[in-house]
Amino acid sequence: MVDRLGPALAEPLFERVAIIGVGLIGSSIARAARRKNVARRIAIADWSAEARDRAAALGLGDEIGASAAAAAAGADLVILCAPVGANEALAREIAPALKAGAIVSDVGSVKGAVIAAIAPHLPSGAHLVPAHPVAGTEQSGPDAGFATLFLNRWCILTPPEGADADAVERVRGFWRAIGSNVEVMSAAHHDLVLAITSHVPHLIAYNIVGTAYDLEEATRLEVMKFSAGGFRDFTRIAASDPTMWRDVFLNNKQAVLEALGRFNEDLTALQRMIRRGDGDGLYDLFTRTRAIRRGIVEQGQETAAPDFGRRAGEDGNGGE
Ligand code: NAP
Repeated sequence: MVDRLGPALAEPLFERVAIIGVGLIGSSIARAARRKNVARRIAIADWSAEARDRAAALGLGDEIGASAAAAAAGADLVILCAPVGANEALAREIAPALKAGAIVSDVGSVKGAVIAAIAPHLPSGAHLVPAHPVAGTEQSGPDAGFATLFLNRWCILTPPEGADADAVERVRGFWRAIGSNVEVMSAAHHDLVLAITSHVPHLIAYNIVGTAYDLEEATRLEVMKFSAGGFRDFTRIAASDPTMWRDVFLNNKQAVLEALGRFNEDLTALQRMIRRGDGDGLYDLFTRTRAIRRGIVEQGQETAAPDFGRRAGEDGNGGE
């Protein structure tokens, strides 16, 4: 099999990388880092005994334990990969164990709140370089991960003002080594962009699937049986991890509410077009949105193949 991640590095970029939380994202990082020889040693911590057992069976780390502090001790790079709501407690726990000059990063889908949760707890010698790999699937846990999840996907770094430039470059090097394109932006900008490209679409999916379910209960309509492609796509997104997404909405309130306000205005305009029989208006909008889809395909972030509700494949399509 051709290894699409390319050859392993001759020398690892980091001596010891700690991964805290070995779910979909943490286990994918572990697999990719191992395959590319990015870290000489990989230490994994997870509070779930089941996740630890699976990670051990899959050979994802050199050390696997329950203690985040023990994994972080002596690490050059610590990556927090638990749901966003766990970050503050984890930062507190690992802080005393961090070696001087350690880089602390994460993979959270929101960034402003994550920096606010982690930064105050880190010792002065540690460098915070938050990251968000814009890649994923609706599945969870160590078995759901795969090494090519981040290949050709974007990873957004949001270093706080005054962050150590060398630490930022080292984190950039890490993500590039496991196949990602890397972009740097402010946390506030990230949160606004992701609210519209990821968070609000998930909310819409949760909402429409909830509405359809309630409708089926109330009217005995055969929503599930005859679910067409459009609805099935929404159910895939709405099957995403409840804990992760609860934390995303609680931690990106402002940007999500702002994007939702815009969405509601546009929805009202669409309602008006339908009520007034404004076919031209509808046609114009649908033509513009079709061009956006083409743009995403051209940028290599999606395939042009028709999708009849198939499972997300090894390309990491269908993620966040
Ligand atoms: P996941 O598959 O549910 O894995 C998270 C793992 O962390 C679970 O094993 C969980 O155990 C464990 N955990 C939770 N709290 C912990 C704690 N305090 N200490 C140690 N371990 C803890 O989640 P995921 O999908 O990989 O998401 C993880 C992070 O990646 C989130 O911050 C999310 O925003 C971000 N992200 C996700 C995606 C995506 O598409 N899924 C994409 C990009 C970024 P329990 O299940 O027992 O709680």
